[in-house]
Amino acid sequence: MPSCGAMRWLRAAALAAAAAMWQTAPPIEQGVLRLHYVQKPIGYERYSIARDGDALALTSDFEFTDRGGRVQLASQLRVRPDYTPLHFTAKGKSYRFVNVDSDVAVTDTEASVRADGRTARVPLDGPTFTVDGYAPFAAQMLMLRYWKQHGQPHVVETVPGTPVNEVYIEPRGREALRIGPKVVTLDRFSIDGVVWGRETLWIDADGSLAAAITRAGGLSFEAVREDLESALVGFVQRGTRDRIADLEAITAAVPPLKSGAYAMVGATVVDATGRPPIPDAVVVIRDGRIADVGPRSSTAIPAGVPTVDVAGRCIVPGLWDMHTHVTQVEWAPVYLAAGVTTVRDMGNEFEFVTALRDSIASRRSLGPRLLLAGLVDGGGPNAFGVYDATTADEARQVVAKYHDAGFQQIKIYSLVTPPIVEALAAAARRAGMTVTGHVPNGMTIEQAVTAGYDHVAHLPIRGDADSDEVKKTIAFLRDRGTVVDPTQSWNELLGHAAGTPIAAFQPGVLKIPPPLNRLFSNAGTAGIDASTARTRLERGLRIVKALHAAGVPIVAGTDEGIPGHSVHREIELYVEAGLTPMQALQAATIVPARAMKLDAELGTIEKGKRADLVVLNANPLDQIRNIRTVRWTISDGRVYDAPALWRAVRFQP
Ligand SMILES: [Zn+2]
Repeated sequence: MPSCGAMRWLRAAALAAAAAMWQTAPPIEQGVLRLHYVQKPIGYERYSIARDGDALALTSDFEFTDRGGRVQLASQLRVRPDYTPLHFTAKGKSYRFVNVDSDVAVTDTEASVRADGRTARVPLDGPTFTVDGYAPFAAQMLMLRYWKQHGQPHVVETVPGTPVNEVYIEPRGREALRIGPKVVTLDRFSIDGVVWGRETLWIDADGSLAAAITRAGGLSFEAVREDLESALVGFVQRGTRDRIADLEAITAAVPPLKSGAYAMVGATVVDATGRPPIPDAVVVIRDGRIADVGPRSSTAIPAGVPTVDVAGRCIVPGLWDMHTHVTQVEWAPVYLAAGVTTVRDMGNEFEFVTALRDSIASRRSLGPRLLLAGLVDGGGPNAFGVYDATTADEARQVVAKYHDAGFQQIKIYSLVTPPIVEALAAAARRAGMTVTGHVPNGMTIEQAVTAGYDHVAHLPIRGDADSDEVKKTIAFLRDRGTVVDPTQSWNELLGHAAGTPIAAFQPGVLKIPPPLNRLFSNAGTAGIDASTARTRLERGLRIVKALHAAGVPIVAGTDEGIPGHSVHREIELYVEAGLTPMQALQAATIVPARAMKLDAELGTIEKGKRADLVVLNANPLDQIRNIRTVRWTISDGRVYDAPALWRAVRFQP
């Protein structure tokens, strides 16, 4: 454990003497970080730094087990004494579906990069470091030392990237942390660009990494030095405050173009009630609500209300994403940019998501309305997250915790046992909450619904849509009024043939920032061809169609995917399944509003409802892909410019 600089130097000197004797390089520095996924401890990173001739050699062994799946990454990084990188290798996985096999050799003028099976020579003309995603954390620690030694440049370019990545490092202040009897002084840094969205790193007086909060596979991932483990939640709270401050800064930088009272004139209104579109319409907005809507010929614009010409465009209700995990503030501008004004979060870091919801609800931050489902799993090493229920008492306690924090739903995960499903559902019902989730291991969808599920996440129905068994299940769900969020865009993203470029079905992937490219570069299923992948997808789409035809409410959800763009893909896939464009649009507007009992306020363009609207350049009823042509998004009456929102988080508009 690093104590103070001088002590460490003495120890290093002793170790170096031992090394000379044995002709192996003992570590001059080492550390153990406890790794957590959504606050659940799941593994370790062990690193050491040794002298290697004139250079320093970092070795990291990063390993965790997430819900039974083992992830391991071995990395080496050689740097000069001023931390200029010389050679970096990483092999293994950094997340369940992110394979890493990188080798980067750096000279003064260029980097030879091998990553993702490609090689490239990248010319270098500014400060450069080598990191390949968030892991290993020790490489990020050395990147911070490099940045300090090189005059704290505004941008550090990192390789491997596409072709280089840009990383922005900002000091965010110093804080004292009390751990038992000892007080540790730490400097906090915001790092933007290693992953998409900002990370927080804490560095002690010796320059050693104390803690880091980042995102892996979309969810929050925390690394805390072993001796500071008891401060985990404190780190999460401090990191959360930093992130909310970042979102407030974005909010100030992308102000609404209009708010208060105004009338949009000349667009075609597709109100999502199922009624025919209104050509050449007027929509009057006042104080965040739709004051009036109708044909221009019969809808009066009150005196003094300014008008906005939207002729030739199309207005639809604000979209919903019914399955997300908004674990970064950058999602807030992304969702509005994509026309999404309400989302249901299906499991997140409790401290973060409640703070984010409150900041948006109080209008200190822009972003979609956040409805929250609180994640609960059964206990044990393979459970997901830190909120477990293994007894009826624990079930009541966890429901009370989420209810008190204003969550709308309980999301039950795979390891909850049948009697605890019933206990959770009963407690949720008493609290006025509803229940959604995965069908737990060992239960059928019918058993889960009978035990109290109101909604079901994903599409846990296997087989042929025409088989008697599937028909029986569908009839059962219809009779029970169960809501299904089938996340078909997520299945497509993970299930597409690895040889097929994502852009072939998801053009949005061409607009994402480089760190997200890294995440999706090897998403897909290896060893299958495009037609096999398509056949599998179509099997799911046929079930979606059959559910819809039977009257089971289908709500559009993405499970994240390609931020923002996956919502559009989900809607497109419903049309490929055989829903009409209007029905597909309803699955992302009024059907979710009804499912969340908010249809009196949201979900259609009708007088008196909240002014959550999207102005599109083209009508999605003509071509469903026109849902991608978002020009302005109106969130609670405030008009946002979609391209400006995309740019605020480094997407191309
Ligand atoms: Zn999910």
